[in-house]
Amino acid sequence: MKAIVVEFHDIAPEVRHFLFEVPEVAQLHFKPGQFVSFNETLNGKKITRPYSIVSLPQGNRFELCLNLVQGGVFTPHLFELQPGDSIETSAPLGFFVIRDPAKEAVFIATGTGIAPFRAMAPDYLSHPHANQLTLLFGVRLEHTIYYRGDFEALARKHPNFRFWPTLSRPVPSQGSSAWTGRTGHVQAHLLEAIGERRDVDIYICGLKAMVDDVRAILKGLGFDRKQIIFEKYD
Ligand SMILES: Cc1cc2nc3c(=O)[nH]c(=O)nc-3n(C[C@H](O)[C@H](O)[C@H](O)COP(=O)(O)OP(=O)(O)OC[C@H]3O[C@@H](n4cnc5c(N)ncnc54)[C@H](O)[C@@H]3O)c2cc1C
Repeated sequence: MKAIVVEFHDIAPEVRHFLFEVPEVAQLHFKPGQFVSFNETLNGKKITRPYSIVSLPQGNRFELCLNLVQGGVFTPHLFELQPGDSIETSAPLGFFVIRDPAKEAVFIATGTGIAPFRAMAPDYLSHPHANQLTLLFGVRLEHTIYYRGDFEALARKHPNFRFWPTLSRPVPSQGSSAWTGRTGHVQAHLLEAIGERRDVDIYICGLKAMVDDVRAILKGLGFDRKQIIFEKYD
């Protein structure tokens, strides 16, 4: 299938939010948390890269959040795309989706690992029997808390949703007052998010080092493998 760029805007330095449309279908079916695989031939080589969908199903449109990897093979090409340009894509794929919204859940993300959770959080909370959901989101600086407004609005609407951004470099951004929220890595707030409870599903998304570290902590706490659902970006 071909996906056409409808529009894009930058949400942080080197992080771009895209809206795509797939003209050949009326409805793009997917579960929140799934990804599309983009394919392109660059310098005679076929390149495939998966990207998590950051939006809920909405006709034949889908949204992505892309991080420019300096020196990367594919992302510099994606950052050249302009409205009207097209790219070859797979249908949505993947198993990183909500297992049971009636069960308490903790979502853990760093950086663009937030992407699937922007769709999965409203999906979880819209369920009539939704339990408690905590989103622990680690970034370096305050202005890189991607989709902060969306998650804060969701937390205002749903008392069973806790949005916990944490900054690893809590220096005041220009024009804003000092950060009074959580600091340090997501790992430092894991125990507080889980408490004494063990009947909790943990969803983790981000780069390998963080995902493996969090999984090791959870195993040490006695979590079963089946309760730990993860997506590694590298
Ligand atoms: C299921 C899945 C979903 C993904 N969803 C997203 C998404 O929503 N948004 C997104 O920006 N990326 C996402 N990725 C990562 C994406 O597929 C590419 O790996 C990334 O865009 C880098 O491609 P590249 O060709 O530019 O870099 P490459 O030339 O392949 O170099 C990648 C190297 O850059 C480093 N790196 C730095 N930042 C990243 C990063 N964010 N992801 C991967 N590697 C990184 C890694 O160390 C890696 O070795 C996802 C990956 C998977 C497996």
